[in-house]
Amino acid sequence: MQGMPVGELPMQPPATYDGADLRVKITELKGDRCHFILDGVHLGLANSLRRSMISRIDTLAIDQVQIHENSSVLPDEMLAHRLGMVPLNSEGMEKQILNYNKECDCDQYCPKCSVVLTLSAKCVSSSTMEVTTKDLLLEGGISDVGKPATNPDPKLQDGILLAKLAKGQEINLRCIAVKGRALEHAKWSPVAAVGFEYDPYNKLKHTDLWFEVGTDPKDEWPVSENGKYEKKPEDTDPFPYNEKPSRFYYDVEAVGQLKPEEIVTKGLDALILQMGQLRQGLLDLTNQGGPGPMHPGDGGQDGMMMDAGPVFGVGDGGYAGAPATAGAYGGAPGYGGGGGYGGATPGGMGGQGYGPPPVPAYGASPAHFANQGGAGGYGQPGGGRTPGYGGANGAQGGGGGGGGWGDDPW
Ligand SMILES: [Zn+2]
Repeated sequence: MQGMPVGELPMQPPATYDGADLRVKITELKGDRCHFILDGVHLGLANSLRRSMISRIDTLAIDQVQIHENSSVLPDEMLAHRLGMVPLNSEGMEKQILNYNKECDCDQYCPKCSVVLTLSAKCVSSSTMEVTTKDLLLEGGISDVGKPATNPDPKLQDGILLAKLAKGQEINLRCIAVKGRALEHAKWSPVAAVGFEYDPYNKLKHTDLWFEVGTDPKDEWPVSENGKYEKKPEDTDPFPYNEKPSRFYYDVEAVGQLKPEEIVTKGLDALILQMGQLRQGLLDLTNQGGPGPMHPGDGGQDGMMMDAGPVFGVGDGGYAGAPATAGAYGGAPGYGGGGGYGGATPGGMGGQGYGPPPVPAYGASPAHFANQGGAGGYGQPGGGRTPGYGGANGAQGGGGGGGGWGDDPW
């Protein structure tokens, strides 16, 4: 990911915010942070992306701790809480951890829905022993998924301190880490914070810059670093009361589960998925009781697989948006368990796939939609102007989409 040199971004933010003049520029990309500028979108969309990155990305976190021995000064609960907050490597997790623990068909936990970590430490010397995340070992070890994350800075490789032990004290425990999202608990958030700023000169007066009488507001409120990307307004410039913000300066600060650039793309994926669900929900509602023929799809599993391509549940009916003339959402793979929202290949009859490139086939996450699948999708009366979800064999059959996680607390 390489950004353009600063000079190439016009000093004036685009006058449009509908995406017609969209520009993106990465201004800084490090192991744990990504600064970028998104240009030409609406404030609401910019904020949706921010919130999506904070709370709608799947990661792994410790959810259960079985304590066999703890003679340290920390109570069990506190130790468990500290363990829960440890960032665990979640890169490529979607290929290994297919299910949310709650929805998995196992009794308690299994390799499809969890990873297991163990910690065994005993202090035998007279000096204090530090127990860190380096002592937390992955059981089984199919891959690095679930390993405690390390700092990208090679000078900071000591691990995160969990507890200190004096001579004779001991900790021996077993942790079950499962997949989740920060909507449920902040420990699953891949970011410490995602901020964005717009209008660094406060031309639009969205911010009330308070200052003490007798002081100079310009000294009290120095222009942020992002001011260098915009033209400094003159004092004589009229107040642009019609103008809306259209350029956003993001600051994504990763915790360690995922790389910052991956967080941005996954945040976008999550947002696209939500939009798809909204669209689907609306279609389902408006089609209720309508004359549309129901095409039973042949199911498809509860897809949890976030894999590219038409993974499973290519129903034989479902949402075969029959003669969809308009560009169909999703090519071959259908929307629900059926496969991908946005497929790898443009669907036969579906025409131009909407396909966000090789994006995941979003299957079910826990969801309202999850129960909708199974027997197959809802038939969309063909021929309409509505673009069919999924092309010919796309089939929105089965499984059913994800999402539907209660209220967004952010
Ligand atoms: Zn399981």
